[in-house]
Amino acid sequence: MLEGFAHLLFPEVCIVCRKPLESRQEPLCAVCFSQFTPFPDSLAGGQALIRTVRDHFGERAVPSEAWALYPYHSRGVLHDAMHAMKYGGLFPLGGVFGRRLGALVRSLGSQVGLDAIVPVPLHSLKRIERTYNQAEEIAAGIAGVLGMPVWTQCIERCVNTSSQTGLSLSDRRRNMDGAFRPGRKACRGKVLLVDDVLTTGATMVAAAAALKESGAAAVAFATVAVTEKE
Ligand SMILES: [Zn+2]
Repeated sequence: MLEGFAHLLFPEVCIVCRKPLESRQEPLCAVCFSQFTPFPDSLAGGQALIRTVRDHFGERAVPSEAWALYPYHSRGVLHDAMHAMKYGGLFPLGGVFGRRLGALVRSLGSQVGLDAIVPVPLHSLKRIERTYNQAEEIAAGIAGVLGMPVWTQCIERCVNTSSQTGLSLSDRRRNMDGAFRPGRKACRGKVLLVDDVLTTGATMVAAAAALKESGAAAVAFATVAVTEKE
């Protein structure tokens, strides 16, 4: 059991294809990584994210800035990897994606003015059930690259929402109504809100509103992936 756990933290094989790794620096092999198709340039992911939020929630919901790595589809290697990261215990993948996102933000010089990273929280019961929050793993990866703190107590999820998968936009909105509230610690300055996938933006828009209520002056968004219309 302990050995299995240590293996997950310090894998010798790729966490996706299980083939031996040449370097133990990253838990994912170069072949698997090469199958994740990124956005064509460093700005395109953020632009896609902003477009999606604007289309669904209007100009007022658009974040101050945004970054994303990959267009997301309902099937394929990236989908399988993200699903395993969220539900299958492959949380080290969150750190891998987070470091890439952090490098993207840094390459654009956009870390200037950011005060902290805030992961989208899970409801406390779901956090216990899953044992980890993939958004926290991604946030830790970004924070490591940017040398910034991670704030997990500025907002909390007060409703144990059902999965958003398969819900219409109006149902997603209703599902998120009052889902977040300010947490035990006040927020301040400009924070980077982090999640794994942005589909319509309902979750992040609701979490950003709670962050502003908690005291944040501005909220930027970063996600590993943005769902593309198929
Ligand atoms: Zn692999």
